[in-house]
Amino acid sequence: MKYFSTRNSNTKLSFEDIFFKGLASDGGLFLPENFPQLDEVTLKNFSKLNFQEMSYEIFKMYTDNTFENNDLKNIINTAYKSFRNSKIVDVKECGTISFVQLHHGPTLAFKDIAMQVLGEMYASLLSKNDKKINLITATSGDTGAAAIDAFQGKKNINIFVLHPHNKISDVQRKLMTTYDAKNVFNIAIEGSFDDCQKIVKDLFVDKNFSERINMSGVNSINWARIIAQIVYYFYIYFKFNPEQKPIDVSVPTGNFGDVYAGYISKKMGLNINSLIVSTNQNNILERCIQKGEYKPEKVTASISPSMDIQVASNFERILFDIVDNNSDRVNQLMDNLKNDGFFKLNDDELKKLQNNFKSSSCSENETLAIIKEIYNSYNYIIDPHTATAAKPLLHNKNEKNKQFCFETAHPSKFPLAIEKSIKIKPSLPNGFEKIDSKKEIFDILDNSLEKVKAYVLERV
Ligand SMILES: *Cc1c(COP(=O)(O)O)cnc(C)c1O
Repeated sequence: MKYFSTRNSNTKLSFEDIFFKGLASDGGLFLPENFPQLDEVTLKNFSKLNFQEMSYEIFKMYTDNTFENNDLKNIINTAYKSFRNSKIVDVKECGTISFVQLHHGPTLAFKDIAMQVLGEMYASLLSKNDKKINLITATSGDTGAAAIDAFQGKKNINIFVLHPHNKISDVQRKLMTTYDAKNVFNIAIEGSFDDCQKIVKDLFVDKNFSERINMSGVNSINWARIIAQIVYYFYIYFKFNPEQKPIDVSVPTGNFGDVYAGYISKKMGLNINSLIVSTNQNNILERCIQKGEYKPEKVTASISPSMDIQVASNFERILFDIVDNNSDRVNQLMDNLKNDGFFKLNDDELKKLQNNFKSSSCSENETLAIIKEIYNSYNYIIDPHTATAAKPLLHNKNEKNKQFCFETAHPSKFPLAIEKSIKIKPSLPNGFEKIDSKKEIFDILDNSLEKVKAYVLERV
């Protein structure tokens, strides 16, 4: 399996190359040259597999022989050892909605599912070539903690995480800043998540810098994360859908990684009826899917901070598809975005986008009301991100399809929002209370590329 960049379809790189690079050097995102098609026989067999086994089968298709079969199995089994639920992903039925609990990992959000695998993959590949790498990543709140947990204490790896200062919840911050490991660096940027993400992108394209420090990235653009996320679409279809009905999946969306994995699953042959891109009030994706205009506006802070995003990096991957794999057109749209502050899809492109995705957005008040409604009806507490995605499925009794809503974070990560809605403080799972008494370690920096560069160089 070879990979190319959305901005130059002539690139041909191996999985290992793109895994370390993260982002293509031309600023594009990597895509595989084809999507493996799963036939009836393979799919039938899938229904007998547990999460780790399914994960192995899917990773194998995209990683060729980067790993020995046994190494890949070990990577996956080790990655999921720290999960609190032996199914890894579980489902809670609440009326018409089946909530998909993706938050049983060590930092209480779905990001752990992919990040734990990445941590083991880096360790495995680096142990073979004695390379030293520096990971730099931006986080809207959950990726950072997931990455730090996955990479803390690992040999030959430093991890730098940029988060927007004072724009994430206290629990989110503490889950990142209370690790006492020499290879972990937390930086709070005086700016938004989009500012953090921009700094990381600029560091990557600055070849002088990124090559000098052997920079690598684990943001949601890393293709390995998409692979790990494909797994649970298959898993819920086979494990929690006894009649094997077509499925609708509503996904709390920010950077478009999680929902994009659903799109790939559908391409690989999974019977997904609709994929719903659910956003909070920062609804650039809803506007784009409805009107074809992609125009970032100022981000408004919300009670679902992990989705406070206006520049959804993974969106470029879907663009490549809807412009019929024409990388010149992708370049043109990205140039428009850079120079004019927006781009507009033509009618044909928009139609393709709409054929593949539905969209929804949810205000702050609606989010609070939905948390309350689910709690009152089912005695079940969902986090604010999940609530935004429950909106399009509520009261929507569709007998033909099974309706899943991704539960992307544990409610205890967002206690203020939950308390505001139902006057109850959600408790942290066992063992997590200790973060409150631990010392936090992080540095605050201006929103400045140069300052971050200097900070990193002093520490590598
Ligand atoms: C990251 C995150 C999202 C958004 O996921 P994307 O893959 O960026 O679209 C939604 N909810 C939570 C809790 C998250 O941490």
